[in-house]
Amino acid sequence: MTKEQSLKLLKTLTEAFGVSGFEAPVRTVVGDLLAPLSTGMQTDNMGSLIVSKTGFEEYPKLLLAAHLDEVGFMVTRITDGGFIKFQQLGGWWSQVLPDQRVEIRTANGTVAGVIGAKPPHILSKEEAEKTIKLRSMYVDIGATCREEAEKAGVRVGDPIVPCSRFEVCKNGKSFMGKALDDRAGCAMIVEVFRELDGRSFPGNLYGVMTVQEEVGLRGAGTSVTVVKPDVAVVLDVTVATDTPNVGEDEATTRAGLGKGPVVGFYDATMIPNIALRDLVASTAAEAGIPFQAEVMPGGGTDAGKIHVYRQGVPSIVIGIPVRYIHSHVGIAHLDDYANGVELVLALVNKLDRDTVDSLKA
Ligand SMILES: [Zn+2]
Repeated sequence: MTKEQSLKLLKTLTEAFGVSGFEAPVRTVVGDLLAPLSTGMQTDNMGSLIVSKTGFEEYPKLLLAAHLDEVGFMVTRITDGGFIKFQQLGGWWSQVLPDQRVEIRTANGTVAGVIGAKPPHILSKEEAEKTIKLRSMYVDIGATCREEAEKAGVRVGDPIVPCSRFEVCKNGKSFMGKALDDRAGCAMIVEVFRELDGRSFPGNLYGVMTVQEEVGLRGAGTSVTVVKPDVAVVLDVTVATDTPNVGEDEATTRAGLGKGPVVGFYDATMIPNIALRDLVASTAAEAGIPFQAEVMPGGGTDAGKIHVYRQGVPSIVIGIPVRYIHSHVGIAHLDDYANGVELVLALVNKLDRDTVDSLKA
């Protein structure tokens, strides 16, 4: 795809709605994009979207996975004053939330709100120096009493999503927006399916857009039993560490924008299949694609569930570094994204019967 087409795809997918457990709107958007490019499409009972494309032969089954859901919140209670208390869906650092715009998706439509914060005029010195706890936060929709909030359609259990516009940065290569985690991975699957349209490749290919990754890799656990893959590549973003607020003494590997896609060597949920890891590295070297190796003490991806399915599935994580994930605005780089797509395509062509057998040995 051209640079403009890729950016348009990223805008479409990141601006779509779909917090954990409420992925239907974004699933429809991705499904519409993939329908003409695939030979089969289904969902599992949890809502993960499974799209297939027939290759040269049945074996091996290659699973490409990315998660549909984005981090957000759920309404827990409306106060007498008409303010909305909430539960987080996925991991948030409370400090990134005060005064941010959000949208509540109600049965009657979208309600705009802001997470309230005290202005400096009435803030004590002690309060100003403390981080605000998530449990004390609330969404303000401008209501003056409970009845107004209820009349607006807000109900307990309604999902709340960050409100943020996709934008291309001045260098023409970086872009910012919400939900890059992991709509960037979903976009990569769309690009791979588009590139392979009308072309032959070794095994059968499955693109799986999972639900509820951010709350515990739940859709990966169910969808993998539908596909029963022989090998898996999980496409997910990772933390960019090229910002001034990342300390020199921190032990994690470094990943910077524009320096290539990231290949996961370790995270809290998986040590990858080493033969597959080495194959990714040699494939990248042969194709002249730069990549960044990552060893991350925390975090995890859908691969954490997929690689331990049945007797085990050789798996690897390939993603792009994103600054400020799990917030209203992340920043990523188009070169990393495009090189990530190229690397996955090169792998798809390599993962034939003999190669996948050798990974399992
Ligand atoms: Zn993710």
